[in-house]
Amino acid sequence: GAPVPKFAYDFTEGNKDLRDLLGGKGANLAEMTNLGLPVPPGFTITSEACRHYLDHGSVPEGLEAEIDEHLTVLERQMGKRLGQPDDPLLVSVRSGAKFSMPGMMETVLNIGLNDESVHGLARQAGNERFAWDSYRRLIQMFGKTVLGIEGEVFEDALDAAKEAKGTTDDLDLDAEDLKRLVKTYKDIVGEHAGRAFPTDPREQMDLAVKAVFESWNAPRAILYRRQERIPADLGTAVNIVAMVFGNMGMDSGTGVAFTRDPASGQSGVYGDYLQNAQGEDVVAGVRNTVPLAELEQIDKKSYDELLQIMETLENHYRDLCDIEFTIERGRLWMLQTRVGKRTAAAAFRIATQLVDQGLIDLDEAVHRVNGEQLAQLMFPRFDESRTDGLERLTQGMNASPGAAVGKAVFTSERAVELAHDGEDVILVRRETTPDDLTGMIAAQGVLTSRGGKTSHAAVVARGMGKTCVCGAEELEIDLKERRFEAPGGVVVEEGDVISIDGGSGAVYLGAVPVVNSPVVEYFEGELAAADGDELVQAVHRLMGHADEQRRLLVRANADNAEDAARARRFGAQGIGLCRTEHMFLGDRRQLVERLILADSAEERQGALDQLAPLQKQDFVEIFEAMDGLPVTVRLIDPPLHEFLPDLTDLSVKVALAGDDADPKDRTLLDAVRRLHEQNPMLGLRGVRLGLVIPGLFAMQVKAIAEAAAERKRAGGDPRPEIMIPLVGAVQELEAIREEALEILTAVKEETGVDVPALIGTMIELPRAALTAGQIAEAAEFFSFGTNDLTQTTWGFSRDDVEASFFGRYLKLGVFGVSPFETLDQEGVGRLMRVAVEEGRRTRPDIKLGICGEHGGDPDSVHFCHDIGLDYVSCSPFRIPVARLEAGRATI
Ligand code: ADP
Ligand code: MG
Repeated sequence: GAPVPKFAYDFTEGNKDLRDLLGGKGANLAEMTNLGLPVPPGFTITSEACRHYLDHGSVPEGLEAEIDEHLTVLERQMGKRLGQPDDPLLVSVRSGAKFSMPGMMETVLNIGLNDESVHGLARQAGNERFAWDSYRRLIQMFGKTVLGIEGEVFEDALDAAKEAKGTTDDLDLDAEDLKRLVKTYKDIVGEHAGRAFPTDPREQMDLAVKAVFESWNAPRAILYRRQERIPADLGTAVNIVAMVFGNMGMDSGTGVAFTRDPASGQSGVYGDYLQNAQGEDVVAGVRNTVPLAELEQIDKKSYDELLQIMETLENHYRDLCDIEFTIERGRLWMLQTRVGKRTAAAAFRIATQLVDQGLIDLDEAVHRVNGEQLAQLMFPRFDESRTDGLERLTQGMNASPGAAVGKAVFTSERAVELAHDGEDVILVRRETTPDDLTGMIAAQGVLTSRGGKTSHAAVVARGMGKTCVCGAEELEIDLKERRFEAPGGVVVEEGDVISIDGGSGAVYLGAVPVVNSPVVEYFEGELAAADGDELVQAVHRLMGHADEQRRLLVRANADNAEDAARARRFGAQGIGLCRTEHMFLGDRRQLVERLILADSAEERQGALDQLAPLQKQDFVEIFEAMDGLPVTVRLIDPPLHEFLPDLTDLSVKVALAGDDADPKDRTLLDAVRRLHEQNPMLGLRGVRLGLVIPGLFAMQVKAIAEAAAERKRAGGDPRPEIMIPLVGAVQELEAIREEALEILTAVKEETGVDVPALIGTMIELPRAALTAGQIAEAAEFFSFGTNDLTQTTWGFSRDDVEASFFGRYLKLGVFGVSPFETLDQEGVGRLMRVAVEEGRRTRPDIKLGICGEHGGDPDSVHFCHDIGLDYVSCSPFRIPVARLEAGRATI
């Protein structure tokens, strides 16, 4: 018969490779269990069950029975039943999706407590305060998460209880205070949820499971997924875990740790610990944590065991791990681990450190880093030597690198508002919560006064690649007055410009000048790898390996000698796209105007003759910069009216001048009207211009040939490739090709220098892709112009749609990312595959490349590798990214 679906897995049944089904948390709890580490027993309800629940509004058939079964096993193992009055088993109900979404979804602790079992717990633990503290936490978390009551209502009641006691520390509340608080909390539930707090333990658990399922679609979770490009339809798994208690007294506690520094990669003891506390107290910054190293003094045995386990985990996962743990009366329990998030710099450092430790090889190391991280390392940083005149306000923790300058704002709403007006802002908070996500996205950087490198602000900022300084404890932040005070009495009001350095943790008043990154200096050849720091050396090693392994060549999009030279320093192996229209701007616009306005063949030729030497000089310089490497020159592509004045402006000018209007302006206006197009992107441009305006392409081809001849005569090695844009039919290309070949021959005879030039075409119209077999007869190379190919395949006008409705499309999930950013592999990519296959069939040695923006996009580079292109071409600054990704695609 059909296999019975399985919706729940005991921790002993899972493993780390089952993240799709069990989520990251569940899979890794299982992995740790099977490694023999001290994990409280429990089981995981699959993300498949969650998807079913979200699709149908009810749990799948069979789930209830499976939960019963697993719960019975758990109860037997623990020797007590869920919520058993005299000795209750308590559990946590924890979300955990495939991709970590820190703090985005829900978890409820202490499930199983009620008015009876709280006494049982107190007796068993010999600790009344602890039992009532656990109970009030349950009602609070359950009320907020499951019953949807505003968290603040509970917080206020807690604050009031502390105030009545004359304290600000929740540890000063005794059992009697907490009993009263429980009563208050239950009243709050009755009042705000329209129902009593459920006392049946199993009902508590079932409701919590559903609430966790539903938290997948909480607005902040949706926003986070969009930001992080996590698919919307994965759903979350739910983990039911026997409770262990960090709030049993000062010999108990809870903490988080990294196996090495997630900001630098350095090995060492990194983490935060909080005595007599439960769960989220650490991250939430309820009380101040102590550095993990201090645990050695507090509880040496647990500390040693923890360090031992961290080593085990690092060796097992062969990577940096982060960890949640709890100590219950001197006994250590592991509650979570995962391969930890890290900064871009740490990713490079850690990967090479692990190679040196013999844990991974270079192939694996190259896989552990990616192009986006490399791009981040190329961002500028603060110029430390020029901070003199600026006031250094304080020093926080360097939680996420980069240099951010902007106006201080104190709420997420304000951050969003100002960012919307185009202002750079720094979001300043005591600590952030998931509700601050919108503000964090809008801001250039985040500054907090509380919490360590594992705080919400730090974790989320690192994930987003956003600069963050956290735990700047000297700052007195006054959210109500929207200002903070730094040591020495300096007051920063909302709107004052500050600078934060995510690399050092420094905070400055005013705007600090920024400098290039050492990684860029290394790529520029200004800094030898050997003279660089550990990061530069790591980049050097991993790039070296990627270059050795990659099959794809990487070329640059460059239109002038300067860009070409930089691209070459960055590792470009030629130019894949040299646009010639930029060479028609500036002073030369006059000549283009004359060309367009010409009444006769002679006049037209006159204008072309003046343009020719200028063009030639451009090419000479570029060929020189790229000596010995191919340079693909694209003949002029945009519609000519782009070089003329704007129709409306000119009409107004002529109309205003009336009878006194300059006759030249009138002629010009006529021409502008004549050339005006409703839809210029689909109008007279590309090869069509070459066919309609006599001599235009010929002039360009001649300039290329003569420039090449001149370079060759000077001892150079020019390798021109002539590229015809916007071809849709082989007939168009044939006509231009014939003319070009004649010119090449003529120049050869004239100069006595033979410089072979390939002639090829862009593939940027669906028809070109579909008839690539024919087009290849006249083309020695294809270059996929994926900007236009995306426009014409989707029928999207790139200049309009991104601003007008892409936001909506992204929200609707029509696509997860703009097809102009990452290649649409199913649609546009399919056309490319067809063209590659048919082009090669006609001409087996045809050269194939891509020159759209996608050439520097990591996913798109992998696709280009997969379909067998010979090279990608991208802007000079993306070249290292493309090199790295081409290597990663090969290995
Ligand atoms: P998040 O994904 O937001 O970290 P978790 O499910 O990990 O949420 O739980 C929140 C907090 O509660 C963490 O600090 C975790 O260690 C703690 N916690 C979860 N389950 C238990 C348990 N069974 N016993 C003790 N503490 C727990
Ligand atoms: Mg956790």
